[in-house]
Amino acid sequence: ISDELHAIRDLPAETLDGYRVCLKANIELPEEADHVLKYGAEGIGLYRSEFLFLTPGYPAEEETQYQAYRRVLEAMGDRPVTIRTLDLGGDKLLPNLQSYDEKNPLLGWRAIRFCLSLPELFKTQLKTLLRCSTEGNLKIMFPMISGIEELVNAITVVEEAKAECLEKGFPFNENIEIGIMIEIPSAAMTADILAKKSDFFSIGTNDLVQYSIAVDRGNEKVNYLAQPFHPGVLRFIKRTIDAAHENGIKAAMCGELAGDPMATAVLLGLGLDEFSMTASSIPLVKKIIRGSTIESCRILAEKIMECSSYQHVTFLVEAWMAEHFPDIG
Ligand code: PEP
Ligand code: MG
Repeated sequence: ISDELHAIRDLPAETLDGYRVCLKANIELPEEADHVLKYGAEGIGLYRSEFLFLTPGYPAEEETQYQAYRRVLEAMGDRPVTIRTLDLGGDKLLPNLQSYDEKNPLLGWRAIRFCLSLPELFKTQLKTLLRCSTEGNLKIMFPMISGIEELVNAITVVEEAKAECLEKGFPFNENIEIGIMIEIPSAAMTADILAKKSDFFSIGTNDLVQYSIAVDRGNEKVNYLAQPFHPGVLRFIKRTIDAAHENGIKAAMCGELAGDPMATAVLLGLGLDEFSMTASSIPLVKKIIRGSTIESCRILAEKIMECSSYQHVTFLVEAWMAEHFPDIG
C-alpha cells in the first residue's frame, strides 16, 4: 500500500464532520489474523470458521478448533473478534459426511440449517467458542438465518452449550454477544423481529444479492444481473440498518460490498456502523471516510434510494465520487 494510505493506518475511521464508524477484517484462516493490524483493522468482523473444517485433518477436533480460535483472539488482544459458526453444506459438505445429493444445494442443507440438524457438531463448536470467550472480546455469529424460529432454536443450543460448560467447570462469558448474518431476503424483511433477539446484525451482501435477485454469481450467463446497487438489494440493506437502529443494536456488513470503495459513501449515508472486509481494502475505504462529510453521504443515500434502476444508482455514485475523489474509481 502507498505511503499515503499507510499514514492513515492508526487514524480513526471518522468523517470530516466527526461521524465515526468501525473498520474490521474478514479472515478465513487463523494465521491471517497476524496480518490484519498492519492495515489498520480494528478487529475481526467475520472469521469464516468453516475453512477449519475443510482443511485436511477434518473434521476439526475440539482441540484443533480451540487452538485456532485462541490464536485469532490472541492476535487481536482486546479488539473484537466475530466468529461465524459453520457455514458448511450446499457445495461445501464435510468430506466424511455421506454425500447428500441435492438438486439445489444453495437452497438446501447448509449453514445454520445443517448445524441445527446435527446438534452435537453444532454444540461442540459452541462449547469451544464459549471456552475461548474469556480470552478476548469474542462474539458469535450465525450464518443464513431465515427467520425467528431458526434463531430461537440456535440460541437454545447456545444455552445447552453454556449449561454443559457450567457442568464441566469451564469458565465463559455469560453475556457473550450473539449476532446474525442478514443475507436472506426473508431475514431482511423481518429484521425488526430478528433484532429483538440479536445483539448485532451483519449484512452478507454476497448471498443477499444472490438470493434477492435469484442469480447464481458463478454463472457467467446471468452474473451481469448480480448488482449490489439494484434498488431491490439497497432496500433490503436500508431496511436492515433501520431495524437494527430502531432496536438499539449495531448494523455491520461483511459481504464484499463493504470493501468496495464505490459503495463507501452510500453505506455511510445509510447509517452502516461497521464495515468488515479483506484487510488490504481497509486503507482506501478509510481514506474515503476521512475525506467525506456524513452530511453529503446522507444526501447521496437519500438520492439513490429514489432511483429505479441500478444504472441510475451507479451513475449518481460515480458522479459523487468524481466530484469528491477524482483520483479514485
Ligand atoms: C455473504 O454472503 O456476503 C458473506 C459474507 O458470507 P459468505 O461470503 O461466506 O457466504
Ligand atoms: Mg453468505
